[in-house]
Amino acid sequence: MHLAIRDVTKTYSNGVRALRGVTLDIPRGMYGLLGPNGAGKSTLMRTIATLQDPDTGSITLDEQGAASPHLIDVVREKDRVRRTLGYLPQEFGVYPNVSAERLLDHFAVLEGFTQHLERSRVVESLLRQTNLWDVRRERLGGYSGGMRQRFGIAVALLGGPSLIIVDEPTAGLDPAERVRFLNLLSELGEQAVVILSTHIVEDVAELCSRMAVINKGQILIEAEPLAAIAAL
Ligand code: ADP
Ligand code: ADP
Repeated sequence: MHLAIRDVTKTYSNGVRALRGVTLDIPRGMYGLLGPNGAGKSTLMRTIATLQDPDTGSITLDEQGAASPHLIDVVREKDRVRRTLGYLPQEFGVYPNVSAERLLDHFAVLEGFTQHLERSRVVESLLRQTNLWDVRRERLGGYSGGMRQRFGIAVALLGGPSLIIVDEPTAGLDPAERVRFLNLLSELGEQAVVILSTHIVEDVAELCSRMAVINKGQILIEAEPLAAIAAL
């Protein structure tokens, strides 16, 4: 599994050049994208997640082990990408009066789990993995920020994704919940490409095996975290 980003540019209609020729090779595991507010992180994450098109450049996902051909053109084959993508946006829309169990079950139906027994097994295993089993029947509106983020992970994991994108996930989490959440993410890196976008140096330093620093739409550094942070 491997994501190849080649010379991607994006200029918004107001003239802001959000991405100015981004080239990156992202292997399996946890990959950090570090940059200040306005650097272009969300634009790049949304582009990889097929939610917006770049002006120029290409993005290719090499999904080893899947049915051939292995190469997916992320910009042109959105349906194929979406089948293998788990995306946790910055703001996860919450349905305050529904329980986690009911909403996850609903998303599982949409994901194609039509058999009741199989679906309840999948839902249970995701709620346990994200440590939400004990609170599964409570309304989402009563969840803490950390619990909501973990619920977002459960939803993102439904289809067994090989590409997981997490945009600024630790904003607003307290320290204990942040550690719990990051540990959960690093487990996922064993089976997928996980891209973690953040403006918090510690998030990438602790967990990512590689990282890039982005500023003003350009990649400044691409290295292992220790080397990259030393160069900042
Ligand atoms: P980050 O996620 O690193 O904060 P963004 O990708 O959100 O960066 O934004 C990069 C730049 O593009 C910023 O200057 C931002 O104001 C601008 N921008 C982001 N989204 C839009 C949009 N939809 N229309 C116009 N400008 C945008
Ligand atoms: P933090 O204090 O770090 O923000 P949380 O409030 O998110 O932590 O939850 C801490 C742990 O307690 C979590 O594992 C969560 O599942 C559990 N928990 C939180 N609120 C409730 C609740 N109302 N009922 C049962 N368990 C809860």
